[in-house]
Order: sequence, then structure tokens, then C-alpha cells
Amino acid sequence: MRIIKEEEAELAKKYLAIAAETAKQATCARSRCGAVIVSERGCIIGEGFNSPPGGLKSQRRCRCEKNGYHIKVTDKTCCVHAEQRAMIQVLRTHPESLAGSTLYFVRLDEDGKLHYSGAPYCTICSKMALDIGIKYFVLWHKEGITVYDTEEYNDKSYAYTDAYRIISLQTTRP
Ligand SMILES: [Zn+2]
Ligand SMILES: [Zn+2]
Repeated sequence: MRIIKEEEAELAKKYLAIAAETAKQATCARSRCGAVIVSERGCIIGEGFNSPPGGLKSQRRCRCEKNGYHIKVTDKTCCVHAEQRAMIQVLRTHPESLAGSTLYFVRLDEDGKLHYSGAPYCTICSKMALDIGIKYFVLWHKEGITVYDTEEYNDKSYAYTDAYRIISLQTTRP
């Protein structure tokens, strides 16, 4: 992983801003996220936001208690992730451009402003990005815009630590 600067960061900001626009379409009640996938040549080949699968009201699980699921239910998230949606779109429309592409991800806060990302933890998206040939994953951390190789991103997602999890749990408790 590396924090990018200057021209490279300016270009990344452009794509992150597009991802933030896309995130405004999200209908998930828990969070609003956006993702764009950019080909090696710099073309946007996929976009996505999080919302219930198929856009179905019957499949909305945003208010379900995550701890209520059986241990075998490993995906406790409610909606289709923005990154998943963007990846699905590219697989449908530009699969030939996946090799060497970059996925940019953003989360919005309640006011619709960009919310800095924490450490990677979504193994659903990290595995899929690596498997379909996306080369880089970009997050905007407080420390700066950070580029991960997708293999490293998958390792880091699986290595997300308990210590980190406890901190995040404590901060969300009243
Ligand atoms: Zn949701
Ligand atoms: Zn995900």
C-alpha cells in the first residue's frame, strides 16, 4: 500500500468524487457507499452503490440484528455492496478491461460528505476484486488517498484485527 500525492492524488480525487456522486443513489439504511472501476487506460467501466439485492423491498435487511444470524451465515451485511455492484457491472459490460483496472471506493456520512475509510475488512469484495483481475483498490484514509494492490488488500481484509474491532465497537456504543 502507498499513500499517493500530487498529480496522482488529484486524478484519484476526480474518480473518488464520481464515486461519491454514485453513492448518493444508495438506499441502504445503514450506510451510503459508492464505487467506480477505472480501466488501465483511464476509462470508467463500472459504477455501483449499495442497496437491497435486485432493488427488492422484500430483501431489505438493513434493520436486522447482525448477531441474530447463524454462524454459518458469514455475510451479515444487509445490502449488495457498492464495490460488488461495480464489479458485476464490469463483468457484464467490459470484462475485457478488468485486467489492470482500479476500484475507487467511498463512504458518505449523514450529511452526504465523504467519510474517511478505516482499515479494509470486507473479504467478500476483496476476494472478488482479486479473483476477477482488478489490480488496485483505492481508499481515502485520514492519512491520505491510499492505493492497495488487490492481493495485499485481500490479505489485509482477512488480517483485520480483534483489537481494531473492539475499538470500533466501543466507539459505536452509547
Ligand atoms: Zn442495507
Ligand atoms: Zn464489500
